[in-house]
Amino acid sequence: MSLIAEATPRSQATADLRHDWTRTEIRALFELPFPELMFRAQTVHRAHFSPAQVQISTLLSIKTGGCPEDCAYCPQSARYDTGVRAEKLMALDAVLADARAAKAAGASRFCMGAAWREPKDRDLDVVCAMVAGVKALGMETCATLGMLTAAQAHRLKEAGLDYYNHNLDTSPEFYGEIITTRTYGDRLRTLGHVRAAGIHVCCGGIVGMGETRDDRVGMIATLACLPEHPESVPINMLVQVAGTPLSAEPKLDLFEFVRTVAVARITMPRSVVRLSAGREDMSEETQALCFLAGANSIFYGPKLLTTPNPGRDRDRELMVRLGMEPMVP
Ligand code: SF4
Repeated sequence: MSLIAEATPRSQATADLRHDWTRTEIRALFELPFPELMFRAQTVHRAHFSPAQVQISTLLSIKTGGCPEDCAYCPQSARYDTGVRAEKLMALDAVLADARAAKAAGASRFCMGAAWREPKDRDLDVVCAMVAGVKALGMETCATLGMLTAAQAHRLKEAGLDYYNHNLDTSPEFYGEIITTRTYGDRLRTLGHVRAAGIHVCCGGIVGMGETRDDRVGMIATLACLPEHPESVPINMLVQVAGTPLSAEPKLDLFEFVRTVAVARITMPRSVVRLSAGREDMSEETQALCFLAGANSIFYGPKLLTTPNPGRDRDRELMVRLGMEPMVP
């Protein structure tokens, strides 16, 4: 059988939602000739989204550094000497001022990230006030605060939280090479609490951490076989930060990154696929290839938590050059 025939899903290229993707099917998609993979990703993309629209999110670090976890890619772990200083939780007014500025710059969703293993209930009081305040500005709200209990997820939902980000990062098999302070099962449990509370899920991973293609297959398979696909799927390229265990990790071939985006698009047809960390080091041509592969969301603003991101002017110029426009929520 040809590579192309092998990778044809049972329910065809514009596939309706499936939650039974096998690793064999997903591997076959990764192995398609690049133009065929891009064609299929575009076909699926156009069945569900306008190819010219990009969802714009802004991410603010509301509590930076000093995290007790040992995620090998993360400059905010207290275990690595990366020059990131531990800071206290930001004040409510400062967060709302940032959200107003993000809205004025064109962002429709405001994400608040805190470097915690899990939030303490007294911290959650403040975060809930932030969520309610951002929501009152007419923006979609998103938070990433670490592991949640069922009760904490319900509190966030009541405060007006639309999305919760909690990445699976990589395949179940490779996870222990990257993080030892929590398990894949912990991650899935929090995702379950978020879903049960009625909050949209933002969940994806990072590539270029030394994983194999089979790990990338395993990561996409896990995401695409969740009982409901995450509404947002961020695909991050590792940013090698000095002081972290992955600082000298060789760069992943960018075509492999684009392939990962395309396979995410094909297997999770109605999800917004976000081109996330690592964009600062990508050429505009690579980013355009990612949009062709079905990415339809970016983080906007010069900083992603603690790592650099393209400036707003550069992104605006790129959107104009590509004839693309912000997605209205
Ligand atoms: S990725 Fe999150 S949980 Fe892991 S060390 Fe960084 S801030 Fe902590």
